[in-house]
Amino acid sequence: MKNIIFFGPPGAGKGTQAKIISEFLDVPHLSTGDILRKKLLDNDNLAIELKEIMSSGNLVSDDILNSIVASRLNNETGKGFILDGYPRTLKQSEFLNNFLLKTSKSVDYIFNIKINFKTLKNRILKRSSEESREDDNIDVIQTRYGEYLNSTEKVSNFYKENYSSIFHEIDGSQQIDEITEKIKQILKNL
Ligand code: AMP
Repeated sequence: MKNIIFFGPPGAGKGTQAKIISEFLDVPHLSTGDILRKKLLDNDNLAIELKEIMSSGNLVSDDILNSIVASRLNNETGKGFILDGYPRTLKQSEFLNNFLLKTSKSVDYIFNIKINFKTLKNRILKRSSEESREDDNIDVIQTRYGEYLNSTEKVSNFYKENYSSIFHEIDGSQQIDEITEKIKQILKNL
């Protein structure tokens, strides 16, 4: 069983890698961005609220995210999990740690995909023409990157300091298959 967290700014390629590694290990991929985007299709009040927050590039409330993740993790069959896009705030990481403690689970690997702003901006703009995501435009990218610096980077730094033996920095500027190879090497060696 493998429990994995992927960190990285928007556009770092964490979703791509999380999906590949999920198939490679046969472990469920929990992308909170994908889960929220599916909820938008419900067209109810929550969907309207989520759409406004997500299309501006801000973060959705911790309560909503924590309850989504807890119910998904409770329902997983025990093969493990790959978290992509969560935890993004210190409150979420506290919630996750308590949840894992209560359910006698732990995290085995953390991958932090690093990339500079210029490269990620170009990648996100390319993705926007391919996937037509409303949050993939220059203004929103700035906001999302700001949220990453203000909030999520503090969370990854927390894990880096407190879980250094399972924390792995990955250079996100390389080609997709080179990055996958690096991650697979780490999964093999430990
Ligand atoms: P992503 O696809 O991971 O870039 O997520 C898209 C959007 O969903 C983000 O810009 C946030 O608005 C929202 N979101 C996803 N995960 C989280 C989270 N863990 N906490 C708060 N908001 C989130």
